[in-house]
Amino acid sequence: MTSIFSRRAVFASAAALIVSAACRSATTATTTTSAFPIPEGLPDSAMIRADIEILASSKFEGRETGTPGNDSAAEYLSRRYASLKLESPNPLAGCGAGCARGYLLPFTGRESHRDGQTTSYASNNVAGIVRGNDPTLRDEYIVIGAHFDHLGRSPRFAMDPAAGDAIRNGADDNASGSAAVLALARRFAQRPARRSILVTHFSGEELGLIGSARLVESPPVPKSAMAAMVNFDMVGRMRDDKLIVYGVGTAREMRGLVDSSNTAGLRLSPVPDGTGPSDHASFYLKDMPVLHFFTDTHEDYHRATDDADKINVPGEVKVVDLAERIIRRIADRPTRLTFTKVAAPTRTVASPGGGGAYFGSIPDMASGDENGMRLSGVSPGGPAEKAGLKGGDLIVEFGGRAIKNIYDYTDAIGAFKPGDEISVVVLRGPQKERLSIKVTLARRGG
Ligand SMILES: [Zn+2]
Repeated sequence: MTSIFSRRAVFASAAALIVSAACRSATTATTTTSAFPIPEGLPDSAMIRADIEILASSKFEGRETGTPGNDSAAEYLSRRYASLKLESPNPLAGCGAGCARGYLLPFTGRESHRDGQTTSYASNNVAGIVRGNDPTLRDEYIVIGAHFDHLGRSPRFAMDPAAGDAIRNGADDNASGSAAVLALARRFAQRPARRSILVTHFSGEELGLIGSARLVESPPVPKSAMAAMVNFDMVGRMRDDKLIVYGVGTAREMRGLVDSSNTAGLRLSPVPDGTGPSDHASFYLKDMPVLHFFTDTHEDYHRATDDADKINVPGEVKVVDLAERIIRRIADRPTRLTFTKVAAPTRTVASPGGGGAYFGSIPDMASGDENGMRLSGVSPGGPAEKAGLKGGDLIVEFGGRAIKNIYDYTDAIGAFKPGDEISVVVLRGPQKERLSIKVTLARRGG
């Protein structure tokens, strides 16, 4: 889960980068993980516990993107995929079935810093396939995924900066989701559905959903064949059988499907929105129905105390049980779900910016543009959408101020009030057509 819980969190996570002046060096080093036994042949609860204890052990040093600990976690996950005999989506990896290297999808990312410096890093997503058993529907995919990166030893994005360079192991965030995806992969491998399951683990989430954005840009299966995405981010702290389910408004059939699958009587809090501070947003922005399971935040979130001994494993098994029922129903349907866009919530979570001007843009954190702020989308029903801005637009001017990056943008919007009418200049399309668009700013939070 990225740093700030709010409906605007894709942007909020971008804003969090502003406080960072730290630089990061690219690394491709890996340390061996063969010392870790692969939890095979165990019941679900024991396997989930073992996967969380391994991923959240200090050997991986908190799995920060671009560090050897993160690379080793990816290697561990790819060995787990091999143990589950998942199909490799990458026939060009140069190795045969069951070869762990075939599951790694490398990518590089760039970060820009307030001082104008940019740094690059190398990391990996992990992906594998459980083939469906219907001769036609098996060419379509339900994506299940979780991010495996966390904060490492870095105090930025941490809620406990006073802990300095202590390792943040991220047991709930998000070894828990990573283990849930592995448990589901095993269940579907043992009993396939009609459609195929694309099993994924993302890196770069804490930096702003980078890994999932890259996977959607360069998918290992055709993008049009991905029928829905189900995300698991922080599912290890269930209390009183409560579970938050985001995205129930992203397909016409979704709410009914979720409610009727809740045969165990969990206390669900369904939320229509498909955006939010985790990787499902990358898929929702490409018009895919999504769900995100979340057992809510807690006092150890983004702190060095988010450790494996605090995980509620029986609670997590309940999340996996419910998710399996829902995913099977989506995967076995004769027709796909009917995607629906959700109107932006009129009331957002209280934040220090509450009451200020609201524009409703969703910055593209993966773009790396240096001469403006690229949008990956606009919030449905927000001022930017109403005025006609679109995903892909590059904002170069905002209310008469030049915009070279997201920091300029954040400064610029802070200078205006709700109700102000301003001009926004964007470059659109391959011809970089320059458009000046009038936008009336709304009130944030309400
Ligand atoms: Zn997080």
